[in-house]
Amino acid sequence: MQQESQALPEAVRGFITPSSKKMLIGGKWVDAASGKTFITVNPATGQPLAQVAEGDAEDIERAVAAARKAFDDSPWTQMKPAERTRLLLRIADLIDQHRDELAQLETLDNGKVILESSNFDIPAAAETFRYYAGWPTKIYGETNPSDPAFFNYTLREPVGVCGQIIPWNFPLLMASWKLAPALACGNTVVLKPAEQTPLTALRLGELLLAAGVPEGVVNIVTGYGPTAGGALVNHPDVDKVAFTGSTEVGKEILRASAGNLKKVSLELGGKSPNIVFLDADQKDAAMGAFMGIFLNQGQVCCAGTRLFVEQKMYEEFTDALATTAGSIKQGPGLDKESRIGPLVSQEQFDRVLGYIDIGKKEGVQVKTGGEANQGGALGKGYFVKPTVLTGVKNDMRIAQEEIFGPVVSAIPFKDEEDVVRQANQTVYGLAAGVWTKDVSKAHRISRALRAGTVWVNCYNQLDPISPFGGYKQSGFGRELGRHSLDLYTQVKSVWLRV
Ligand code: NAP
Ligand code: MG
Repeated sequence: MQQESQALPEAVRGFITPSSKKMLIGGKWVDAASGKTFITVNPATGQPLAQVAEGDAEDIERAVAAARKAFDDSPWTQMKPAERTRLLLRIADLIDQHRDELAQLETLDNGKVILESSNFDIPAAAETFRYYAGWPTKIYGETNPSDPAFFNYTLREPVGVCGQIIPWNFPLLMASWKLAPALACGNTVVLKPAEQTPLTALRLGELLLAAGVPEGVVNIVTGYGPTAGGALVNHPDVDKVAFTGSTEVGKEILRASAGNLKKVSLELGGKSPNIVFLDADQKDAAMGAFMGIFLNQGQVCCAGTRLFVEQKMYEEFTDALATTAGSIKQGPGLDKESRIGPLVSQEQFDRVLGYIDIGKKEGVQVKTGGEANQGGALGKGYFVKPTVLTGVKNDMRIAQEEIFGPVVSAIPFKDEEDVVRQANQTVYGLAAGVWTKDVSKAHRISRALRAGTVWVNCYNQLDPISPFGGYKQSGFGRELGRHSLDLYTQVKSVWLRV
């Protein structure tokens, strides 16, 4: 911990000292009621990184009470919409101002390369707050064509106390996808970050207070899923739950939220097809296939994990992909030269290597990678080599189950009909990619694919202007764009006899 931290700026060092980081409840930084803490690990070294309060049911109780009070009985819900706009803009500016420091914290905690955290995660988080800053003054109700003896109109009101549970793959960005629309609509929040990556959420908590978010409006409770997360989704005073994570936990959350019929939105796993036709721009498609799977070490819910390649070019295309994947520089995220980093945890490291073994037993060929990358300068970091598997059939486990690592399963296809059928043969439906110069084919396939997002001649294009979410078991509800407003408001119809 000490050695690692010497080269880092003061702001980051302060965050990862051995003293434990507190959590944010009712505008105050507090220890867990139990006094317990837990250690987070630096994925690049496997060594302890920081010590964080381990919140559980008692802390969730306090946090929900603070959020309830802030919603029911504080100036927050009386704040003018234009004031909320200014508040969200201040948050966006503060994130920008602290970009380098937040990027370093994110890289230390998650492992992702600094190039990605500083050029994507952190600026995208700021842009999400900036985008939602525009909405408070544009959340309209309607007047309805009622019987003239009456006047009828609707109000769009906040839902109330929102429990938000986020994963470790894009920690700050996921916090912003959840917090920005919730605040724009006037809700209060209890946020539970993932146990692997709590640091940037806590730093964001400091920035929220600096921006002037009133006490109790955002509470951040660090802790484990089944205890802290479980207490939050079961709590009778929580009105809405927003969750991003695995499909398995998503199902548990739906069951647990039934007690008081919370409004639920779920952004879950994926096994997205990325489809390359012979008539595609080959250079673009090669880059798209590569970035589609290896961005963030493949720990992306919409990663293009099933790479469908037209039969006639299958060997050539996958050979070239394997050559690129084999030559990419893997190393610690803080090293500016690194282009692919370690996986987030020992658990993910074991899980991904386990799936590669399953693939080998299922009879696939390993074109490149297929093993850990440890020892020497990489030490005991959770590095797995970028892996290209060929000879994959769509019904194999590696093509059906979420691996969540730098592993692409390349599957050949005959024609349009064949690939649409195979691409849709999955329980998931989060995203899909299509590479072709034939515009009609692109549109036909975009309609035929059962997925919440389809990218044509691009991949992983994400922007707060456009909705994101899943078909089938990839969840329900759409985040981003104006669609988040539906998740964080409810409609009231008011009748008046005139
Ligand atoms: P996960 O268990 O679904 O975790 C996501 C979040 O839910 C975390 O904050 C987690 O807390 C919390 N959680 C876990 N169990 C809970 C419960 N019973 N009640 C309430 N909250 C709970 O994901 P994971 O274990 O980190 O990763 C497992 C797999 O999920 C990955 O390999 C990947 O396939 C998938 N995944 C998908 C996404 C996505 O963006 N769709 C993101 C991450 C992972 P803890 O931090 O304590 O676990
Ligand atoms: Mg888990």
